[in-house]
Amino acid sequence: MTVITRFAPSPTGFLHIGGARTALFNYLYAKHTGGKFLLRIEDTDRARSTQAAIDAILDGLQWLGLKWDGEVVFQFARAHRHREAAEGLVKAGKAYYCFATPDELTAMREEQKKNGQPLRYDGRWRDRDPKEAPAGAKGVVRLKAPTDGETVLQDLVQGEVKVANAQLDDMVLLRSDGTPTYMLSVVVDDHDMGITHVIRGDDHLTNAFRQIQLFKALGFEPPAFGHIPLIHGADGAKLSKRHGALGVEAYRDEMGFLPIALRNYLLRLGWGHGDDEIISDAQAIEWFDIKDVGRGASRFDMAKLTNLNGHYIRETADAELVTLTAPLIEKRTGMALDALAKDRLKRGMAGLKQRAKTLIELADSAAFYAKSRPLTLDDKAKGILADGGKAFLAEALPQLQAQAGWTGPELEAWARAAAEAKGLKLGQVAQPIRVALSGSTVSPPVFDVMEILGKDETLARISDLL
Ligand code: GLU
Repeated sequence: MTVITRFAPSPTGFLHIGGARTALFNYLYAKHTGGKFLLRIEDTDRARSTQAAIDAILDGLQWLGLKWDGEVVFQFARAHRHREAAEGLVKAGKAYYCFATPDELTAMREEQKKNGQPLRYDGRWRDRDPKEAPAGAKGVVRLKAPTDGETVLQDLVQGEVKVANAQLDDMVLLRSDGTPTYMLSVVVDDHDMGITHVIRGDDHLTNAFRQIQLFKALGFEPPAFGHIPLIHGADGAKLSKRHGALGVEAYRDEMGFLPIALRNYLLRLGWGHGDDEIISDAQAIEWFDIKDVGRGASRFDMAKLTNLNGHYIRETADAELVTLTAPLIEKRTGMALDALAKDRLKRGMAGLKQRAKTLIELADSAAFYAKSRPLTLDDKAKGILADGGKAFLAEALPQLQAQAGWTGPELEAWARAAAEAKGLKLGQVAQPIRVALSGSTVSPPVFDVMEILGKDETLARISDLL
């Protein structure tokens, strides 16, 4: 059997972090088994579905590297097929028209409430002749669900879960205007797309029972289900915006995460491979199995994600980091980077990437390479200048003008000699220079910075302060 999984988001909002993990698990399980990963946009809620959300979902999946197989399936476009399936069930006596009016149903529920009974459709049209329908009434189509026995689900994550059929009432398949309900559409689509494994959030677990009943009524083999626990915030509460329940584009654009870091992090939310923290894509595909996903809710930990991101930034090639950070620098500073600035960035990247955990941090720490003179100094930097730094720079300038070798090690040798001659520590020499070159008190090793900026620019930045 070829495994076919699917991700089936409703485009009523962005691709949030929980959805991204669901997509990742479906993707990995398909790749692990040599199967296929399909994408279905569940756009049947016409009032709440938007093109912007569809775009954000497709864009987010692409950015995350979760490539789906084949064409995207749009659920709404298949409404006629869903309707047909329900009508087929009516013909086969497995579904029926119910003509109960809204008022009647409200009265039914009031009565059930009064008697302390569960609120359920009581099957009043189940065995009635549709000819008894009031003239002109449209009616809904309901599934003639089994009333005895139980529906058992061998969930790949949750284990065996079951429900007594008596607890499930006859759900609506077609509304009185003929539009299919969500439950009907999902089941028919999963069947028609050949889905073998439905992996989704455990908020859909209760839907699975009714869906299994419907699969069976339609004569379809139900797929295997794996309901994965929801993601909670670090405090154990349901994930909200405050915890990071944002669209993946916020992780990319506002927070500066790499897709590989987010993938690695999401993978470990609910699944693990021993104590391994860093898991490559190839390892993830080799190791991931849906049955190894845990049953407990996992907690979203921004600090862990950030640390992983730092790891992957250090692993990324310098040239690629330039491509990723240059637009961020441009956006955050408003300057356009020319070829010289990009070249400095590239040569400085090895030093810069050691300390940045996000691309935003990287962009901010790299911006000084690209800035045009004179630089503006932050307050700490101004403090260094006032505290003897400026006097030191005035003495250092002619020495540096006379300095012939301009590599990092040569400049460091000069600095050591200068420090010794004045009875200073190396840091006391390095720090004013750092301030002059970067405008701040933190930067990559300053002698490397001097080398990358070159002699002319270094001397000019120092002169600017004198
Ligand atoms: N469209 C549903 C959602 O976004 C998912 C349905 C499913 O996976 O079966 O929550």
